[in-house]
Amino acid sequence: MSLLRFKMVDAAINHKAVDVTAPGKQPSDYFGAKVFGRGVMRKYLNKQTYDALIDTMENGTPLTLDIADGIAAGMRRWALDNGADHYTHWFQPLTGGTAEKHDSFSEPDPDGGVLEEFSGKLLVQQEPDASSFPNGGIRNTFEARGYSAWDPASPAFIVGTTLCIPTIFISYTGEALDYKMPLLRSISAIDRAATEVCRYFDKSVERVFSYLGWEQEYFLVDESLWAVRPDLMLTGRTLMGHESAKNQQLEDHYFGAIPERVMSFMRDLEYECLMLGIPLKTRHNEVAPNQFELAPVYEQTNLANDHNQLLMTVMDKVARRHNFRVLLHEKPFKGINGSGKHCNWSIGTDTGVNLIGPGRTPAENLQFITFLVNVISAVHRHNGLLKASIMSATNAHRLGANEAPPAIISTFLGSQISTVLDKLEHSKSDDTIRFDAKNVFKMSGVQHIPSIFLDNTDRNRTSPFAFTGNRFEFRAVGSSDNCAEAMIVLNTIVAEQLTDFKREVDALIESGKRKERAIYEVLKRMIKQSRPIHFDGNGYSEEWKAEAAARGLDCETSTPLIFDRYLDKATVEMFERMGVYNRVEVEARTEVKWETYTKKIQIEARVLGDLAMNHILPIASKYEGMLLDKAYKMKELGIPATSDIELIKRIQSHTAAIQTLCGEMIDARKVANRLSGERAKAIAYHDTVALYLDDIRTHIDKLEEIVDDQLWPLPKYRELLFLR
Ligand code: ADP
Ligand code: MG
Repeated sequence: MSLLRFKMVDAAINHKAVDVTAPGKQPSDYFGAKVFGRGVMRKYLNKQTYDALIDTMENGTPLTLDIADGIAAGMRRWALDNGADHYTHWFQPLTGGTAEKHDSFSEPDPDGGVLEEFSGKLLVQQEPDASSFPNGGIRNTFEARGYSAWDPASPAFIVGTTLCIPTIFISYTGEALDYKMPLLRSISAIDRAATEVCRYFDKSVERVFSYLGWEQEYFLVDESLWAVRPDLMLTGRTLMGHESAKNQQLEDHYFGAIPERVMSFMRDLEYECLMLGIPLKTRHNEVAPNQFELAPVYEQTNLANDHNQLLMTVMDKVARRHNFRVLLHEKPFKGINGSGKHCNWSIGTDTGVNLIGPGRTPAENLQFITFLVNVISAVHRHNGLLKASIMSATNAHRLGANEAPPAIISTFLGSQISTVLDKLEHSKSDDTIRFDAKNVFKMSGVQHIPSIFLDNTDRNRTSPFAFTGNRFEFRAVGSSDNCAEAMIVLNTIVAEQLTDFKREVDALIESGKRKERAIYEVLKRMIKQSRPIHFDGNGYSEEWKAEAAARGLDCETSTPLIFDRYLDKATVEMFERMGVYNRVEVEARTEVKWETYTKKIQIEARVLGDLAMNHILPIASKYEGMLLDKAYKMKELGIPATSDIELIKRIQSHTAAIQTLCGEMIDARKVANRLSGERAKAIAYHDTVALYLDDIRTHIDKLEEIVDDQLWPLPKYRELLFLR
């Protein structure tokens, strides 16, 4: 082990668990302590202001400036009382992560003192210097300004000494430059469409909400080791590193106890999150060494997503306190599992009915089947787009590999639901569907709907989009992603599908069909049409790839080409029709996707090139020199040095290859950089540059096996991956 490595590994071993003993309180004592929630609002706002704000939160009623002033004053007082002295509009730009620009509450007053100032105007809208956030050309074309505007549906909160106000981020001409704005639009779209359909079954339904329960996977590495891996620091993943002899084969990590240091990190993190109102519920080890997962209880999608964004920031902060670094990259280590972010999604009514879960009565179950079939149909129609929503340079390492969802979207339904749908599809004549006096749905073969769903525990870990009893679990989302991207697409495609479904059913009713009969007829056709998306088998198998292609599912694997789905005519029309994106927005966001893809690969290529030339080759040459010296001396003494010479030749072949490949990779970048258009560039980076990353790595990893361990400059996998 080199001296540097020894020191870092030694430091890592000596990092002890940090004591985070809770202040002798129960979570219920501090849950939401840093959130401007309803209890606090009641205390800090007068009744009129409070009522107006609740009306805005619940019904979207616009706020007057007077009321906004009242809210701002209350918020400021609460923030000051809780140690905050600054405030920020907190938003989610397309770069990923969150952005904030802090302003002080204090303003100089005319008499030379300072005033604590925070008006309704400052609460409601601001103009951050937005020119450096990606916008896919929108602001260049239209107007150089971007605005952040308060989202009252998500409560303000305090991080450190800053009051954070969740906001949307839009251009001067109103185009969304962030994730929250279109997410809110998609939530409205599904609300409108689903409420209409609900009214076939229950006239009292006025709203439908979309829900999200995310499960966040992540890796921890010791900070001192992380600090001497430039690849981890700059790209979030190891660009080289020979597999550890032991990694996850024994599955001992998944079932093992959580290491003490990690446990104290988790407890600290949970404490911080609970104070911020993030309802964390579960924590456990994941399959790979050093891999973990945490999940909250599900919430309405807008809030759940803000909470996930917030969590990712808090995790990073808390990890440092414990001498860890959190890796949210989808594939930080080759040869072991990567990290995803399962997004559990459902929709439910304001009357408290989960539309993706079986009900207690046959009528509720017809409603359930209606929504289920609509979701499946939507996923079938837009499977390529759904894949595009989770694709990225980093998630590409995970998808299609033998551990995570394949790069083909399909839905798993389980045997019970499959049977019900089969029966529905194949049931024939009118006598299969009858309605008794109370208008209760009956169908021969499926009268038993009310009771059969009780135990839907089929689990198929290989399915990217699985029905899990009362929700769908979208498993292809990447660990570093903003879930909004997937949720926007999912909400929108389901909204569109429900709208079309309603139109068809209404047309049949108008032609004289009974309502239930009409619903039933349309469902039957949809079940048949969407059959290809339904797959309960092993999504990792080679046969599935061939089968999926034969079924007409989107099997594209090139990330830049997958993004094309956003610009399909049907996609753009759908987004416009559902009021989620206009054409300019879709085009701009797709540009940003290509641009980001290129930049990520470009950075990886640069880092790998530097590391290869500055770290690896000099060390390999040094060792080679030592061997040469030895071989030369042995020859002098007449001792055969065949095996040493063999080794020298091997080292030489790898170092020569690395040099050649690094040169070629630079040339490939030069060619790609000269192309015009983000799409063309991204394709070139995918088809020409990215390939070198793997090739160069192969040679470096071979050298790692040969070169003297004492000389090797970077911490190895076995040192990075086993926290004590
Ligand atoms: P798993 O078995 O998939 O690991 P977990 O219990 O860890 O399941 O996580 C499931 C997630 O799904 C949790 O965040 C949970 O709150 C969420 N969830 C449960 N029911 C629903 C629902 N109806 N809609 C959305 N999310 C849900
Ligand atoms: Mg899950």
